[in-house]
Amino acid sequence: MASVTGLSASVVVVGSGMGGSTTALALARRGVDVLVLERGERLPREPQNWSARSVFVDRRYKPDETWFDGRGRPFSPGVHYLVGGNTKVYGASLPRLRESDFDAVEHLDGTSPAWPFRYRDLEPYYGQAEQQLGVHGTPGDDPTEPWRSTDYPFPALEHEPYVAALAHRLRAAGAHPSPTSMGVDRRPGGACIRCGTCDGFPCRVDAKSDAETSALDPALATGLVRLATGTQVTRIVLDATGRRVDHLVAQGPDGEVVARGGRFVLSAGAVNSAALLLGSADEGHPTGLANSSDLVGRRFMMHHNAHVAAVSLRHRNDVTFQKTLQVNDWYLDGGDGYPLGSLQLIGKVQGVMIQSWRRLPLPLLDRLAARSVEWLVMSEDLPAADSRVRLDGAGQIVTTRAATRSATHRELHRRAKALLRAAGYDAVFTQWFDLSMNSHQCGTVVAGQDPATSVLDPWCRSHDVENLWVVDGGFFPSSAAMNPALTIAAQALRVVAESDLAA
Ligand SMILES: Cc1cc2nc3c(=O)[nH]c(=O)nc-3n(C[C@H](O)[C@H](O)[C@H](O)COP(=O)(O)OP(=O)(O)OC[C@H]3O[C@@H](n4cnc5c(N)ncnc54)[C@H](O)[C@@H]3O)c2cc1C
Repeated sequence: MASVTGLSASVVVVGSGMGGSTTALALARRGVDVLVLERGERLPREPQNWSARSVFVDRRYKPDETWFDGRGRPFSPGVHYLVGGNTKVYGASLPRLRESDFDAVEHLDGTSPAWPFRYRDLEPYYGQAEQQLGVHGTPGDDPTEPWRSTDYPFPALEHEPYVAALAHRLRAAGAHPSPTSMGVDRRPGGACIRCGTCDGFPCRVDAKSDAETSALDPALATGLVRLATGTQVTRIVLDATGRRVDHLVAQGPDGEVVARGGRFVLSAGAVNSAALLLGSADEGHPTGLANSSDLVGRRFMMHHNAHVAAVSLRHRNDVTFQKTLQVNDWYLDGGDGYPLGSLQLIGKVQGVMIQSWRRLPLPLLDRLAARSVEWLVMSEDLPAADSRVRLDGAGQIVTTRAATRSATHRELHRRAKALLRAAGYDAVFTQWFDLSMNSHQCGTVVAGQDPATSVLDPWCRSHDVENLWVVDGGFFPSSAAMNPALTIAAQALRVVAESDLAA
């Protein structure tokens, strides 16, 4: 007979990414014992961590998993099932959302809805999250930066000469470039060696502020947190009232695991948390758990993103750590009253990384990469009922998006190209993100005041299931056009400090 392992804790957390690990650490600091169930394993420190071929071509750290689009076409999702979740490979760009991101804002393509709390409610927790993640930043140059009650822990990373010259050329072209806020350990004596394999790669020297290094390991060190790896939660089971989670069922390395606790937190990532709720449908909840609003899985957002590479025949790009500059001139207003989004430098791209999506000869791509600078062009994704996560008849994940290239994003892309041309670049190449490039997934279990129009309350607790919280990118009412991880961490700290989760 197959064995069943029983585990229990006051709070059981599903997933050890940014939401789950930050929640676990905050709970432990309040004396609460926590069990973290994580389907992935610890990522090994190995030479392949910094090999572009291993990471981007061989997809060494990606799961062998298939999702489907609305037409049933398979794709490999941009997710990482690891201790630390997607943050193990993230770019560690850690901006706060802007104050207006919490309000209803008219866009070219529709309305971005208001959040059920304001920037001022999250502001103290942004400061705490920045401390925890050791964020480097310097306020002042960015016209959109929101007010702050605490300083960044560390000053912004210095630009290398190529990027400093680029900033100068952008200013001459009329833009207002500013430093990015980054979570890497460049404090005096810090572990970061400022290498060229940070954004998109795991850090081999643990110098990136990922969830494992910055939150989970400190949480485990308290002695109050236990971690079960290789343990995939497959079902949430309610008690006889239908209003409380009784236990979770998971598949562990040695067979079935049943996890019991007083309170439960889903932090499996926006898509997987929604999939788990939908897949746990029972007789009393045929459309899934916590789903009386019918909004679980809907309002799926992942930003409208594109990478652009600007090539200059005159300027060789000898940069190592490129990700130190952003341009937010059109974030709040593109000139006609509508917001457009942000432009950020990304980690320096190597020829072999381009080859993972564009099959051209490597020597040609290497020559191109030596003269190019690469940007992320990011616009807000608006929530729509038809942009959704659902399960097909076989229980496999299907994601669909109502709009793939918004008018806002097309306009931001046009402005970005024009700016880069004005700054002296000869050609600009674009890689539009497709459905598989869902690294900024959010919105699938929306937070709000009204149970009829939201899944979670403003502190991420389910309206329907009283001992269930969802603390990951799923709670976002709108995507804004900033990287999401710092906001997920700040909200996790707010949830633990202000809701009954730690009670
Ligand atoms: C290449 C890349 C670059 C990025 N760069 C940035 C950046 O610069 N700045 C930024 O802000 N964001 C960035 N992001 C996005 C950022 O990583 C995510 O927003 C963030 O990690 C989301 O946190 P989360 O808690 O929602 O989920 P995740 O961090 O993805 O964590 C989810 C966890 O749940 C686990 N899990 C899933 N299902 C189950 C299950 N059924 N049972 C048990 N465990 C489960 C997963 O293994 C994972 O560990 C990037 C992402 C990628 C992929």
